[in-house]
Amino acid sequence: MKVSELSENLKPSAILQLAADIRALIAEGHQIYNLTIGDFNPKIFQIPDELKDEIIRAYESDNTNYPPGNGEVLLRKNISEYLKNNLGTDYSENEIMISGGARPLLYAAYQTLLDIGDTVLYPAPSWNNDAFTYLARNKAVILRTKAENRFLPMAEEIEPHIRDIHLISLCSPLNPTGTSFGKEELEKICDLILIENKRRNELAVKPLYLIYDQIYWQLSYGDTAHYHPVLLRPEMKDFTLSVDGISKCFAATGVRVGWAFGPKKIIGKMVSLLTHVGAWSPKAEQIAVGNYLTHTENVKSYMENIKSELSFRLNEFYKEFMQLKAEGFPVDAIQPEAALYLTLKFDLIGKESAKGQKINTVQDITNYLLHEAKVALVPFSSFGASSDSVWYRLSVGTTARNDIPNIMNNLKNALESMRVTV
Ligand code: PLP
Repeated sequence: MKVSELSENLKPSAILQLAADIRALIAEGHQIYNLTIGDFNPKIFQIPDELKDEIIRAYESDNTNYPPGNGEVLLRKNISEYLKNNLGTDYSENEIMISGGARPLLYAAYQTLLDIGDTVLYPAPSWNNDAFTYLARNKAVILRTKAENRFLPMAEEIEPHIRDIHLISLCSPLNPTGTSFGKEELEKICDLILIENKRRNELAVKPLYLIYDQIYWQLSYGDTAHYHPVLLRPEMKDFTLSVDGISKCFAATGVRVGWAFGPKKIIGKMVSLLTHVGAWSPKAEQIAVGNYLTHTENVKSYMENIKSELSFRLNEFYKEFMQLKAEGFPVDAIQPEAALYLTLKFDLIGKESAKGQKINTVQDITNYLLHEAKVALVPFSSFGASSDSVWYRLSVGTTARNDIPNIMNNLKNALESMRVTV
């Protein structure tokens, strides 16, 4: 049966094959620690009780017809206030739109900002930019980022491409790495964009836009601060489209409320586009979140709790991996800064297990950890890093505190049975 080339050639998520392998092992009766998903186990991480109550109340009040295309005004106003009070930005309710999570907003932003054949620059590893680029029929400059930069793209790496690109898609804190831009790192990128846009303004051509996905910004730990381009460089406001939402900070991935904020014209075009798709967030959920955001004390204590639960897990794993490294195991980790993710390295290529399993590829490492340690992790190659990258994402959203010793024990045993091939 013939279908469009676009749909025919759409690549399935690289994590899907791994998911199938995990399901098969579970079906065989193995206990698998599945640390691959960027989601929460809702039995471990619940949404705020008050948000749940607000959702029920909103349905009981019959908020079940179409919401406005740009979202409920109550929610947009309260997001405007929330961002002002917690982030420091100044966006009115008319510069904000709501959608069914952050994904439709990212899709719409690509479609709104780029012409067919335009070029987007994004770092790898990063989440889903490849799919959005493909769907908008654009070209990409993919920056393969470095461990020494915490896998964040640096201005010096962007600069050589600056004249040839139409959009830079950044995410901070970054999925899959759990690392965040420092102030100077982001300032330098903003300055590059501003200089380039002065040039484009004189030529009267479309400016270079920035998508700034900050869905994890409230999950920043320790000394890590979150920076926003428009707060660092107010002139960035005309060129920056930000994406945000409740999915991660309230462990509410299934509730589906996301928002974008940016220049009124861009938001208006995105609203028109998504109105045709009907990618609205349900009206009752919008009203519920609008109300919940005003429960300031409750929001604050929920956030403190989820942050302490997530950072406890990330720091425990980090500490354990640094201990393994100190003991001479071929592993490494990057200090967790934010989000649900820990960046890990398994330098196993060229090694052989006591049972004679040879590790020649990243796929071999992934399979070895899954079958021998019963631990599933996603290689950075699934997020666009090169196929020989031995770095991995560990997600803690489904991990109970008392799973950590078992997981580390399994990993240590699997690593212990490795020896260097002669
Ligand atoms: N942005 C990033 C960086 C993500 O990692 C994800 C989900 O994993 C999303 C956006 C999607 O968020 P939502 O579930 O609100 O669509």
